[in-house]
Amino acid sequence: MNAGTAVGAELTLDGLTKNFRAVAAVSDVSLRLAPGSFTALLGPSGCGKSTLLALIAGLLAPDGGRVLLDSHSQRAVAAERRPVGLVFQKPLLFPHLSVEANVAFGLRMRRARRSEIRTRVHEMLERVQLTPLATRRVGQLSGGQEQRVALARALVLAPRLLLLDEPFSQLDATLRSQMRRLVRELTREAGVTTLFVTHDQAEALEVADDIALMLHGHLAGHAPAEVFYRRPPSLAAARFFEAINEIPGVVAAGCFRTPAGFQTPTAQPDGAGVLVIRPEAIQLVGRAGPDTVTGRACSARFAGTHLVVEVDVGSGHPLTAHLPVGSPVEVGGLLTVRLPSAACTVLASSR
Ligand code: ADP
Ligand code: MG
Repeated sequence: MNAGTAVGAELTLDGLTKNFRAVAAVSDVSLRLAPGSFTALLGPSGCGKSTLLALIAGLLAPDGGRVLLDSHSQRAVAAERRPVGLVFQKPLLFPHLSVEANVAFGLRMRRARRSEIRTRVHEMLERVQLTPLATRRVGQLSGGQEQRVALARALVLAPRLLLLDEPFSQLDATLRSQMRRLVRELTREAGVTTLFVTHDQAEALEVADDIALMLHGHLAGHAPAEVFYRRPPSLAAARFFEAINEIPGVVAAGCFRTPAGFQTPTAQPDGAGVLVIRPEAIQLVGRAGPDTVTGRACSARFAGTHLVVEVDVGSGHPLTAHLPVGSPVEVGGLLTVRLPSAACTVLASSR
């Protein structure tokens, strides 16, 4: 086996279910990750992310459903025989061993040739910029260095699927950002399919191409990050991405309307609906039209690259708009804003 030849596996989850007594930790999750894709598994604490990862890795047995790698069921494959690399929040290294011995450990267990171990560990340490620390004991490393060892230890085995469970949540913001970039680079180079767990929507958007959202043990959407952000698949998904606007209304014959006369086309079936739109998509305009709403500006705050303006359009809670700095906004005055149909998503309202 050569480090360079591993290719990402296709991961398929088919109705995966796991209960802990009365707690339905993972409920009927079906998901397909394309070979070499990078997906953030996003969701609030306790929604079942770690349990799902443990099921994929084979650390837990499911109560129902299947895990397939390249269409092969992993039911009978023990955790240590799956081509899966794992990185956890706590690095779980051997504290008495050196950096290089920690990275070499898996290859030794696989009885790789000594020369091969040396070459691959060397290469890997170079990739994670730990060569100068190769002989240091891991007990003497900083948090970021420890996580780089954990990454190197997982990737040196050339896994076909890499699972990371909130790997950088204990690092400070700057370091976290650097580590995300490193993970992106390394996984792209290796071509490994990657599932990165996080509860932080900003981290998910920064690190991943695709987002799989989990809520209460269920999969609540799986789409490219940009689609998720701009066109959330459900109201629950929209609400998880904070600062999105909601305007209630009614859908009839392919058109969403509010009582105030705003309208936008939609493919939603007839009935109660909610329009969601990102603050940065809202535009200040001079005159009212069918795609505008008018209300009183209740606040305006300078936020560096834009103004954050709240407009009371009588829809329950004020609309938040990000407008260009210098826009003529007078707090207490009337404001007309356009909600471009391309930026509007109409969803079924949940009671
Ligand atoms: P997340 O990683 O998204 O924070 P977890 O997968 O750790 O969520 O947990 C999902 C749910 O399952 C939670 O309600 C949690 O308390 C429960 N849970 C997780 N592991 C166990 C366990 N070993 N025994 C009992 N309940 C568990
Ligand atoms: Mg967890």
